[in-house]
Amino acid sequence: MLSRNFTYNLQYCNTFNRLFTTNMSGNKPLVFNILSECKTSKARVGKMTLPHGVVDTPVFMPVGTQGTLKGMLPEQLEKMGLQIMLANTYHLGTKPGAEVLRKAGGLHKFMNWDRPLLTDSGGFQMVSLLKLAEITEEGVKFQSLNQQKAEVMLTPEHSIEIQNAIGADIIMQLDDVIKTTSPDENRVKESVLRTTRWLDRCIKAHQNPDTQNIFPIVQGTLYKDLRIISANELIKRSVNGFAIGGLSGGESKDDFWKVVHLCTDLLPKEKPRYLMGVGFAVDLVVCSALGVDMFDCVFPTRTARFGCALLSIGQLNLRKAKYAKDFGPIDPECWCNTCKNYTRAYLHGVVTQLPVACHLLSEHNVAFQMRLMQEIRDSVSENRFPDFVQNFMLKLYPDKNYPSWIKDSLSAVNMELL
Ligand SMILES: [Zn+2]
Repeated sequence: MLSRNFTYNLQYCNTFNRLFTTNMSGNKPLVFNILSECKTSKARVGKMTLPHGVVDTPVFMPVGTQGTLKGMLPEQLEKMGLQIMLANTYHLGTKPGAEVLRKAGGLHKFMNWDRPLLTDSGGFQMVSLLKLAEITEEGVKFQSLNQQKAEVMLTPEHSIEIQNAIGADIIMQLDDVIKTTSPDENRVKESVLRTTRWLDRCIKAHQNPDTQNIFPIVQGTLYKDLRIISANELIKRSVNGFAIGGLSGGESKDDFWKVVHLCTDLLPKEKPRYLMGVGFAVDLVVCSALGVDMFDCVFPTRTARFGCALLSIGQLNLRKAKYAKDFGPIDPECWCNTCKNYTRAYLHGVVTQLPVACHLLSEHNVAFQMRLMQEIRDSVSENRFPDFVQNFMLKLYPDKNYPSWIKDSLSAVNMELL
């Protein structure tokens, strides 16, 4: 936990920042303009202006766990045109720790990235990484792996304190995370009500409302009535955007899209909607059609480390022997440095063996996600999003054996497949 001295310094520093920024600008730290809307589905194209720059939406945010994407430098990501990335509060709070980050002048300076950042609350990591986490009204209690198994508590206030020291443009409230497939309705209800109470504690503890945006998280797992209660409570608070949490946790795709569809109906149209933990290409296309503006997932960079490159027709496992004499690029249509300069045969020889392969594949996979989101945005802006979705799905399922959840979810927003 933080020392008293550190807490005092942090408060002093944040109070100063707040006065300074209010005097300097008085502007909202997030302005969201909807530039185009699909006439058929709920897809929209927006421009989100944050203290560290502009983000075009719908956007996919790669996850830089400890202040960097594994195998990629921030300047390389900037050169590729990446506008925003995510960092994990749990990992950063553990190492280097809030005090070092504060002394460094925040994570932007520390990691040499001056574009927008988003941090999670740390709660999800604790519950998923630490088997011994216990949730009480006060916060998430867990055994620290670093401090000789000492018991520590992550409270809403502590999560915001660390996130204030990190200084990301968007920060997340601490929420009461439970398994999506939990059969215990009373426990789900408790998590919904507690998440709202924790949001109020987070807002109260937030020291930088002029430079950092807190996003609340809609909970309620697969219970429609609880999702409605959660969203309706959260939208009463004065915040600049919302997240949909508790999905991608083992639920069926049928349940998944219905909850997303419901939540985008419930959340205010004029504010950005962030669907947490979603990053498969097909999910990005469907959920953009359902009206989601922001996504994040470790998948594209994690799968790169295992030698898998993303393609519009699926994944390419470069470890397979058949690529040993394949002198073509991963994807001839890709603009990334890896596809311009390296062959599948070269990559086959180095994947999962040399760190350089992790870099080359991560660059391609990040570029793939960026290109996909650009295609989604362009097709909405040019009023041809339904055609784009039809062609995208046909490439992925050339035999037209579309999974029923894809047909049903698109049909719910007036789109039919070829
Ligand atoms: Zn590429």
